[in-house]
Amino acid sequence: MDNRTVLPEVETFLKDSPKKMLIDGKWVESLSGNTFPTYDPATEKILALVYEARKEDVDRAVNAARQAFEHGTWARISPSDRSKLMMRLADLMETHAEELAQIESLDNGKPLHAAKSSDVPASIELFRYMAGWATKIEGNTIPFSLASPNRYLAYTLKEPIGVVGQIIPWNYPLLMASWKLAPALATGCTVILKPAEQTPLTALRLGELIVEAGFPEGVVNILPGFGEPAGAAIANHCGIDKVAFTGSTEVGKSIVRAAVGNLKKLTLELGGKSPNIIFADADLDKAIGEAANAAFINSGQNCCAGSRLFIEKKIYEELTKAITQQAKELRVGSGFDTNSQIGPLISAEQLQRVSSYVQSGIRQGAEVGCGGVRIGEKGYFFAPTLLTNVHAQMKVYQEEIFGPVVCALPFDAEKEEDLIKMANETIYGLAAGIWTRDISKAHRLAAKIKAGTVWINCYNVDDPALPFGGYKQSGWGREMGHEVLENYLQTKSVCVQL
Ligand code: NAD
Repeated sequence: MDNRTVLPEVETFLKDSPKKMLIDGKWVESLSGNTFPTYDPATEKILALVYEARKEDVDRAVNAARQAFEHGTWARISPSDRSKLMMRLADLMETHAEELAQIESLDNGKPLHAAKSSDVPASIELFRYMAGWATKIEGNTIPFSLASPNRYLAYTLKEPIGVVGQIIPWNYPLLMASWKLAPALATGCTVILKPAEQTPLTALRLGELIVEAGFPEGVVNILPGFGEPAGAAIANHCGIDKVAFTGSTEVGKSIVRAAVGNLKKLTLELGGKSPNIIFADADLDKAIGEAANAAFINSGQNCCAGSRLFIEKKIYEELTKAITQQAKELRVGSGFDTNSQIGPLISAEQLQRVSSYVQSGIRQGAEVGCGGVRIGEKGYFFAPTLLTNVHAQMKVYQEEIFGPVVCALPFDAEKEEDLIKMANETIYGLAAGIWTRDISKAHRLAAKIKAGTVWINCYNVDDPALPFGGYKQSGWGREMGHEVLENYLQTKSVCVQL
């Protein structure tokens, strides 16, 4: 495999191709026999073939998940045993951390050191955090206000919602699988997980570890496949009680329409066009470096990317120059090159999409401070790009590019209401950054920005305990923290006449 050194386990994993899907605790071929390739975006070479799930495979998985939920061992297992299984899985992930990181870097393109230091440990920690919740899911006793205290005893039970479909994107494949699986398992649901067609491999390796950890058959089913037909079959399926989706706002809307059939519950984590605001009174050295990171990390393929950069007018020239310099110095290259800070985009399609956004910006009058072009001819590398002279009517300002492209705009610090209006003039509301030493100003703005997460003097900081999700068209519901558990639970009220 080029000049890369991969672990023997990774080599064996890739050679075992076509890769099967996990249904009812067994590794099986698709009923159609169809396969699809998954590529290394740094070399454009095929890494492995994968069996492609379609509607008939989703039906099989739903039957297995339903059986496990209603009648199997899972239905009778104690919360403590659920927790132990999740802890065992986290331990196995830790044992195989290097392997998971290598597979992630190969399949997604991200720098290996990023997968090792961030994606994999954050995934492990999330399983451990959620494992802790499995034994702490409680209802309440409810004092009635309309009857005398001794007449009724009323209490609530928290019950798992049932069979859950989970559909995830390609930008953080293992982490997104973990964000989805961990709370579902902690609450006692059973799952059909569909990884993105571009990056099915770490989810499949995770599936092997799930089997090794001893999860009962049918509890977790992993079905690689395309949005159509596999994703749509999950969204439409009347045997599925809830769908948790992470992906684009456009597909999120189609999931809403598909869910109407059985009115399944939905949570949606969708796109973003997040404002990152730098005031002149900020720690500018830190703000400059972090603004570049906010925009370019994971090649800008980050739902929270700080892709609209608002800089106070009096430091605008100085900061755009400094951030441009930072962007130029970022080392773009293969994830397996230890020097790389930024990997390739995920696919030829994504490369085309990002290039055409930049071209449309230029046509509408934006100026390219740096980047704006593909790097090399092999692999989907795109140079970190800063656009200036941007105005609110441009597509590059309004739409999510999902690539390493940031639009820089000046603002007048005296006109705070105008700044808030600019920050909020988007259909999205996922995240925002504020850089200032003025704490009152920071809190004032944080309260007025319509976003699910506001970072003050930092960016892209997540924790399993911190709820994450979107305002407006960035989604429905929250992931992580104990808030996510509600997405997977139903409340039953029980009332006893004494
Ligand atoms: P996408 O919406 O194209 O695909 C996401 C997933 O949905 C994939 O698994 C895909 O196969 C599936 N899918 C596609 N069409 C479908 C359909 N008709 N029915 C059911 N499933 C379908 O998104 P993408 O290009 O993979 O990912 C990028 C998008 O994801 C960006 O918009 C990004 O902001 C968003 N995202 C959001 C978050 C968040 O937490 N808010 C996190 C990561 C990515």
